[in-house]
Amino acid sequence: MGLKVYFNGKLVDASEAHVSVYDHGLLYGDGVFEGIRSYNGLVFKLKEHADRLFESAHTLMIKIPLSKEELIQAVVATLKANKLTNAYIRLVITRGVGDLGLDPRKCSQPTVFIIADKIVLYPERIYKEGMEIITVPTPRNLPEALNPQIKSLNYLNNILAKIEAVNGGVEEALMLNPHGYVAECTGDNIFIVKKGTLITPPAYVGILKGITRGCVMELAGSARIPVKEQMMTRHDLFNAEECFLTGTAAEIAPVVRIDGRVIGEGRPGKVTLRLMRDFRRITKTAGVRYR
Ligand code: PMP
Repeated sequence: MGLKVYFNGKLVDASEAHVSVYDHGLLYGDGVFEGIRSYNGLVFKLKEHADRLFESAHTLMIKIPLSKEELIQAVVATLKANKLTNAYIRLVITRGVGDLGLDPRKCSQPTVFIIADKIVLYPERIYKEGMEIITVPTPRNLPEALNPQIKSLNYLNNILAKIEAVNGGVEEALMLNPHGYVAECTGDNIFIVKKGTLITPPAYVGILKGITRGCVMELAGSARIPVKEQMMTRHDLFNAEECFLTGTAAEIAPVVRIDGRVIGEGRPGKVTLRLMRDFRRITKTAGVRYR
């Protein structure tokens, strides 16, 4: 038996879950999504992901045809149907089926689907030794044009940056904002440690306000590690004691080299390791239980 996918209100076999070629999610990237994880039978930060999804949809004027609670229950039902204890969940809402024009008024019913599957992480080596990233030429979207706080299906800005990272021989790209300040990576937020303080760019620089980012800031607070949201240049990154990325899929990934400069001691630092440990603990004990 294959995976069950939640598709417009029903759990169907993955092989039966088909989106129309007239769906504006496909034709125009007109839709929103969330990547969520479950650990140990607990969905991590489900309410926060649902809140962000509803906010993204609200800005795009896509009316999600379920209440927040119904959506949460649909995620839980999908996980139960697939008997996965540790899963990666992809929750997608598109504008729905329309005609070949852009006009969203032609799309009468949003498409909703939820996939619960396994997750592919960065190689384990990265978590032990740290990763190398490079700054890429493609800047993060100008917030006035397309605000990165909207987690939309239109990821070409990030995909171009990812291509540039891969062309440069590394896994991940550092994206600056259009003014040259540090923004984020293609699917992860970025933090540094400087003089013992944890620093990350503020949302107004033009980033997705990551849920892992928020969680790490809270964990740092509990560990009495000072936290600041502050604009940063590449110079600030090069001269940091530690650097790491955060994201639902990546969790906390140490960075030890940026554009050829060694960061700190060139291996995952002690604040990073402490936060990785605290994060691992909280993911195993907090969340919405489904099995
Ligand atoms: N930035 C971008 C561009 C992302 O796509 C993501 C999610 N993959 C993140 C940051 C991290 O967000 P979260 O911690 O909510 O997964």
